[in-house]
Amino acid sequence: CGIVGYAGDRPALGIVLDGLRRLEYRGYDSAGVAVVCDGELLTEKKAGKLANLEKVLSERAAEDPSGCGASPIGIGDGTTGIGHTRWATHGGPTDRNAHPHLSPDRRVAVIHNGIIENFAKLRTELEDDGVQFLSDTDTECAAHLLAVALADLRSAGQPDGPQLLAAAMRVVCQRLEGAFTLLAVDAAVPGAVVGARRNSPLVVGRGNGENYLASDVAAFIEYTREAVELGQDQIVLITADTIEITDFEGQPASGKDFHIDWDS
Ligand code: GLU
Repeated sequence: CGIVGYAGDRPALGIVLDGLRRLEYRGYDSAGVAVVCDGELLTEKKAGKLANLEKVLSERAAEDPSGCGASPIGIGDGTTGIGHTRWATHGGPTDRNAHPHLSPDRRVAVIHNGIIENFAKLRTELEDDGVQFLSDTDTECAAHLLAVALADLRSAGQPDGPQLLAAAMRVVCQRLEGAFTLLAVDAAVPGAVVGARRNSPLVVGRGNGENYLASDVAAFIEYTREAVELGQDQIVLITADTIEITDFEGQPASGKDFHIDWDS
């Protein structure tokens, strides 16, 4: 339902939670975040209001005062992160079904708006390959497909880095039918968030030494008024200093630049 991503030099968690709060008006039943911190992926998700999620995050921060949980707002100082508020379509509104959904090694996190129509077929195929599902969502198949694509590209010799994440997302999108805005982070690729869209909105917020992704500009207008609307079937890769758009085949593409001039 609501999607936020951040890559920059400030702690991502607070920015992502603020963005989710600004998208609350759309309604939701669960919320979750993932932040890349010191080469680890820290993630939490909870059914119910954002306050439930924030409570668990501050408990974690209290339990881990010297580690990635050191920040008073929860999951540390990682400067790359994603967050989601869910409006359940497949699977009830439970902690387990909340996003992000993770790869089996819990190092890759995916959030999703929309409906992946061919999820049942993809799930059967992945389960036949031995993948174990932990939720009832259509979304989880995208997380597993991304993990498989990343592993395949790595074993084909593609080096770790933002481009690897974008290439893997392209492989995934070629398999998906339906409506999706997807964002993903990988603990092995700090500093980058990849996004993709088909039949569901995704906008980039262009900052100064930081960039944003969101399902709706309301998530980031506090920080920037310069935005780029992604076109149909496009992938976007953001880092603190770059915004790179391609189509699902990897050809360079461009979104529509615009200035947000309404009052927040
Ligand atoms: N279909 C997904 C789910 O049920 C995403 C729902 C949404 O757009 O929030 O988890």
